[in-house]
Amino acid sequence: MSVPQPAPVRTAEGERMSSPPVLFVIDDDAGTARALRGDLARRFGEDFRVIGETSAAAGLAVLRGLAELHERVALLIVDDNLSGMPGVDFLARAHELHPQAKRVLLVERDYSARSPIVQAMTLGQADYHISKPWMAEEVLYREVSGFLAEWAKDQQAGFELFQVIGREDRSTHELRELLTKFSEPFRFYSADSRRGSELLAEQGLDGSRLPVMIRHDGYTMVEPTLDQIISASGGSVVNDVSECDVAVVGAGPAGLTAAVYAASEGLLTVVLEETVSGGQAGSSPMIRNYPGFPHGISGYDLTRRSCEQAWMFGAHMVFSQHATGLESRDGKHVVHLAGGHQVTAGAVIVGTGIAWRRLGVPRLEELVGSGVFYGAAGSELRAMAGQDVFVVGGGNSAGQTTLYLARHARQVTLVVRGDNLERSMSDYLIREIEATANITVRLHTEVTDGRGADRLEGLTLSDRRSGQDEQVPAAALFVLIGGEPRTQWLPETIQRRWGYVLTGRDVVQDGPDPWRWPLDRPPLPLETSVPGVFAVGDARYRSIKRVASAVGDGATAVRLVHEYLAPETADEPADEPQSVR
Ligand SMILES: Cc1cc2nc3c(=O)[nH]c(=O)nc-3n(C[C@H](O)[C@H](O)[C@H](O)COP(=O)(O)OP(=O)(O)OC[C@H]3O[C@@H](n4cnc5c(N)ncnc54)[C@H](O)[C@@H]3O)c2cc1C
Repeated sequence: MSVPQPAPVRTAEGERMSSPPVLFVIDDDAGTARALRGDLARRFGEDFRVIGETSAAAGLAVLRGLAELHERVALLIVDDNLSGMPGVDFLARAHELHPQAKRVLLVERDYSARSPIVQAMTLGQADYHISKPWMAEEVLYREVSGFLAEWAKDQQAGFELFQVIGREDRSTHELRELLTKFSEPFRFYSADSRRGSELLAEQGLDGSRLPVMIRHDGYTMVEPTLDQIISASGGSVVNDVSECDVAVVGAGPAGLTAAVYAASEGLLTVVLEETVSGGQAGSSPMIRNYPGFPHGISGYDLTRRSCEQAWMFGAHMVFSQHATGLESRDGKHVVHLAGGHQVTAGAVIVGTGIAWRRLGVPRLEELVGSGVFYGAAGSELRAMAGQDVFVVGGGNSAGQTTLYLARHARQVTLVVRGDNLERSMSDYLIREIEATANITVRLHTEVTDGRGADRLEGLTLSDRRSGQDEQVPAAALFVLIGGEPRTQWLPETIQRRWGYVLTGRDVVQDGPDPWRWPLDRPPLPLETSVPGVFAVGDARYRSIKRVASAVGDGATAVRLVHEYLAPETADEPADEPQSVR
């Protein structure tokens, strides 16, 4: 084994450029290691150095050498079953030496729930996998190109679309929160810092009105409004369409999908969104359960693509449009917007979602999807075998999740702010929790901080009575603290239960006015108690609270809008393929 010496690369002018980044492969089957290195070198050899080893000790020595030389490693491709050290442990140690590298686990394609990649992905111990034997070279190349594109994106993190100059006050804090929510790259400078004062002076400003926001091309806004921020980022905030076939309220996954389908099927479609597109999903750093993305996709990327797609089909997307009311007039529906504007539509699709309660701990928000989970999906729970995990919440969903986790995890701690569970959880769940040996309940306790660079490693628990903090190791945190549907803007005629909009068979058809269903036919699925108004996604009663379910609702609603707008075509075979433009 020898530590590879980087070949200095020089330009014609003789300046030293850094040598190409490394793709590092380790597999103690020398044949596999050689074959993979050969395949990678053929396709990526011009831009990357492909280096390999066949033993854990030799591999770590090589990586240590590269770290000492400050060489960049782009990918760590590690067999899951190295002799002497499990692949995930090697990845962890290698990643300490090269924290920028993307971690790839090389596994047998056995499609078994026991495969190490299942737990490694859930706990954030690996970013990607490659299956052995890899199929055609083109598939390998496409996948590795994707990994490298993500690595390259991280290297450009220095790009700042905006510079924000302000003080540690409320308005600056709100602006920073907004830019973070919109996923706009920005850098904050205190107005009292040297760089902050320089930037203000360059713009001829004295700092008496803050915050100030400077776009990379010099365009400057003082105390920017929501409209100005959205316009400066390239979004439209002016609605010049006052009549349409279908108005979609809310541009989360449900509304965006409805817009894609409605516009692609020839309906004049207007999307009215209070902030910018993406919804709750848009702020999720990693969505792992959306079909078609085995390594997950950031919620921002997923919803940005849907937004572009709806636009490409001709949907009119307008941001900073807060719907404040809805009324039905002369067979049409009028959406009222803050500021007095209104949009008249043949049908309305309501996709305004839920305001989920968040923990509000910045370090934990960064780790959502990498050990921190809002809600609880079955696959994540099962992947907790042998781990120490935490659940936050005092309601029934927190109780059920705790019990389910206890079947798999080594130890489960239920963290509850209040002094007892009785007020918020059903008795049968409390008794079952008390009878389960590997569950601990910590009352009057809050999660106030988290640790971990790429995945959750630990939590700070604070005792609300004594004020004492305790650091605990944690492999995962499940947050189940509830939320509230954003449906208060709807009129009384739209039936709701616990704020969620009733649709289809749940609509009460024979209630007193104003709740009486007015037609002879029953409500269509997803249709609310007002004919022609549909509800999709999280805001709908009995919805599944998942991105894919919201997407399914959005697509289905458009078919039902057609049925509502042109009932004479309703008997046509529903399964005829629809052609799209
Ligand atoms: C932190 C977090 C992580 C999650 N991770 C996952 C995951 O990994 N996988 C998964 O499947 N699900 C996940 N979910 C759930 C998922 O995000 C939601 O189920 C999904 O976003 C619901 O989509 P929606 O379109 O119904 O609503 P939302 O995404 O909530 O979108 C509603 C939109 O309506 C807009 N709006 C609200 N009121 C108005 C109004 N009056 N006027 C105009 N616009 C309005 C909002 O601004 C918002 O853009 C997560 C949720 C959270 C909070």
